[in-house]
Order: sequence, then structure tokens, then C-alpha cells
Amino acid sequence: MSDLRGLYQEMIIDHSKRPRNFRALADATRKAEGYNPLCGDRITLYLKMEGERIADIGFQGAGCAISTASASLLTEALKGKSRAEAEKLFTEFHALVTGKTDDGAELGKLKVFSGVSEFPIRVKCATLAWHTLKNALEGGETATTE
Ligand code: ZN
Repeated sequence: MSDLRGLYQEMIIDHSKRPRNFRALADATRKAEGYNPLCGDRITLYLKMEGERIADIGFQGAGCAISTASASLLTEALKGKSRAEAEKLFTEFHALVTGKTDDGAELGKLKVFSGVSEFPIRVKCATLAWHTLKNALEGGETATTE
């Protein structure tokens, strides 16, 4: 388990240092901003929707390693997915990081955040990008984690 945890940590560090899809989309059809006042994490998420499908996704922002890595892995996981699939993943991800499940079979790489459930204050960092995504999908402008 400790090896696995080390591997998870490496992936989080890698994604926080070299975030994937870290860019504004010039042709975005949805955009939302998120802010986590507890930690100071800020994110702007861009979506290009084609019907119900997320054709492209990108983000910009500044925050701690967990929030940046979470946003980066989110963009990797959701590109090409449907809105319904994205919402299902959010539900699973939320259950994982809040310790309600340790299964998360469909989460793939996103499972690296399972350790976050041991640090309640970090849950908001890990879920910020997801709350922002939900807002973007629903057409809202600003997401703030409570
Ligand atoms: Zn944070």
C-alpha cells in the first residue's frame, strides 16, 4: 500500500508541475470560474461542447498541487466524454475523496486522489475543478467550494 501511495503521490506531483490541457480555449462554448477560499485555489475551466459531448477542455489558474493536479487529470479524463458520463464520474470522484467508497472502478487515474479522504481540508482542493465543471455544464459562471 505504501508503494501504491508513493506512485499516487508521484502522479499528483507530475500533474501539478506539468498540468495537461493548461490553456484557454479560443472556441470555448462554456466557461466557468472556481474559487476555494480555504486554500486560495483559483481555476477557470473552458469547455467546447458539441451537442452533449465534451469535444475539448482546458483550464487555467493558480493553486496548490492537489487542485492543479486534480484539474489536470480531470481534463484528461473528460475529453471526448458525454455530459452524462462526466456527471457520473463527478459523483464517483466525490464519493472517493470524501471516503464514502474506495472502489471507484471507473475512475482510472483519478483514483490517485483516494488518499485525500484522510485530509478533509484537502477535499475542497481536489473537488474544486469538478464543482467548476458542473457549473460550466449547467451554464453557471462561478463555483465556490463550500
Ligand atoms: Zn488547495
